[in-house]
Amino acid sequence: MPQVNEQLVRDMVQKVLQHVQSGWGGRVPPTVGKNASPIVSAGQTSQSSAGMAAQTCQRFGQFGSVAEAVEAARVAQRAIVHRSLAQREIACDLIRQICINQADMLGRMEMEETKIGHAAHKVEKLSIAANCANGTKALRTECFSGDHGITLEERGPWGVIGIITPVTHSLPTLAVNAVNMIAAGNAVVCNPHPGGKKIAAHGAKLFNQAIYEKLGIDNLICVITEPTIESADQIFKHPDVDLIVVTGGPAVVAAALKSGKRAICAGPGNPPVVVDDSADMDNAARCIVEGSSYDNNLLCLSEKEAFVVDSVFDRMMDAMAKAGAYRLTTQQMEELTRICINLPKDPSHHPTANKKFIGAEPQTIGAAIGLTIPASCRLLFGEVSSNMHPFVQAEQMMPVLPFVRCRDFEQAVEFAKQAEHGFRHTAVIHSKLVDHMTYMGKEMNTTLYIKNGPSTAGNGGGGEGYGNFSIACSTGEGIATPNTYTRFRRCTMVDNLRIV
Ligand code: NAD
Repeated sequence: MPQVNEQLVRDMVQKVLQHVQSGWGGRVPPTVGKNASPIVSAGQTSQSSAGMAAQTCQRFGQFGSVAEAVEAARVAQRAIVHRSLAQREIACDLIRQICINQADMLGRMEMEETKIGHAAHKVEKLSIAANCANGTKALRTECFSGDHGITLEERGPWGVIGIITPVTHSLPTLAVNAVNMIAAGNAVVCNPHPGGKKIAAHGAKLFNQAIYEKLGIDNLICVITEPTIESADQIFKHPDVDLIVVTGGPAVVAAALKSGKRAICAGPGNPPVVVDDSADMDNAARCIVEGSSYDNNLLCLSEKEAFVVDSVFDRMMDAMAKAGAYRLTTQQMEELTRICINLPKDPSHHPTANKKFIGAEPQTIGAAIGLTIPASCRLLFGEVSSNMHPFVQAEQMMPVLPFVRCRDFEQAVEFAKQAEHGFRHTAVIHSKLVDHMTYMGKEMNTTLYIKNGPSTAGNGGGGEGYGNFSIACSTGEGIATPNTYTRFRRCTMVDNLRIV
């Protein structure tokens, strides 16, 4: 039996009030306790006493146990479902504003904690997250109208969504997911990567505080503050978690798919780039440097190996150097392979990156083999002996790009397809030949396919369309939007309601 104390009583009364409030047409219940705040309407900020009350009563999404987090998220979800779309949008906007206004501090905190990637890009990714995050306006509704009346198809929330986030972009992934999921009327329970747990919990606290002050609902975004594989498993198995969304490598995708629940999986990638003899070499090189070096190659969609046809191979290597990348000899590529890539014990598995060099700066990686890389350089590159080279087969997540010389275009595509490992994630081509673009698109069968641009353009970064840090390539939903996190619901009125 839990010991009855003042805090427990306040928490219970708060939960009861949040249930009762569901019938209050969008009004917010008074906070319980000696610093009780007055009732506020949507769009109004509560009195200053609310903040003080919050400090004594609210959890702001910080939870040590999965059971408590899921229960709090369930209560919050029941509250938001009875609010208007405009109020959901207010919650989304508060998250966006925090990501933009505090990008500098939060990005630096993420860099300090995770110690991977490029500091300036850590900051930029938070602003990108805010701009990526679709809101309620993205929710689709369909209507059928005819002699038999009107049928409406709407996108409804699942309820509580359990999410697992990666260390490569801990807070950006949580922020975009939170906006898209709340826009759709859900609440979130997040098991962050242990390497990015502090920034995830801190971000969630800021988001919840802001939402609570404006709307009076706490815990729409709950974070497990000491996440483990066991707590992830508890989320997968919890009866009140309605949907699972994972962003990460092969292990977490396999675990989510075994959970017995509907799972949306944004899994690993190993994106190849193919360059044929018709390509604009200088443009191709600039694009490859931009995409492959972003945040030190931590993005799942970044170019991770290049296949170039023999007739233009040497020109392409010169263009890469002209675009600011640092060329390594084949011997230096071998030296780096020995220290940066782990060979698998089981030959049916792929080689993996040595964690010590994941997301490291090119200067740090070069120094490991005695090289002094200029500070302005963002990418190392060099020729490797074959398409089966460990640097080609591994998802290296570091700014070192292996180049493979290919007999012709068909061979380049064949090698690219093999290196992508069937992840169906991302592929890039530089070519002016429509036939080549079409052929490669069909062969690769990837979720994102970028032509004559950096890989990031396929995710809204310099190309048309929206973006996200969760690209559900493994289960096929693609770049996640609020609709991704909804259930189809239909409502039919028979023989009536038409006005024409
Ligand atoms: P990771 O797979 O090591 O961890 C991802 C998350 O899964 C973490 O929270 C981790 O704690 C958890 N996890 C790992 N194994 C688990 C298991 N067996 N059960 C439950 N949870 C488990 O990956 P990472 O290093 O954090 O991120 C990099 C990987 O994520 C790369 O493979 C990258 O391609 C992928 N990624 C994909 C996308 C996408 O949108 N498709 C986006 C970002 C990252």
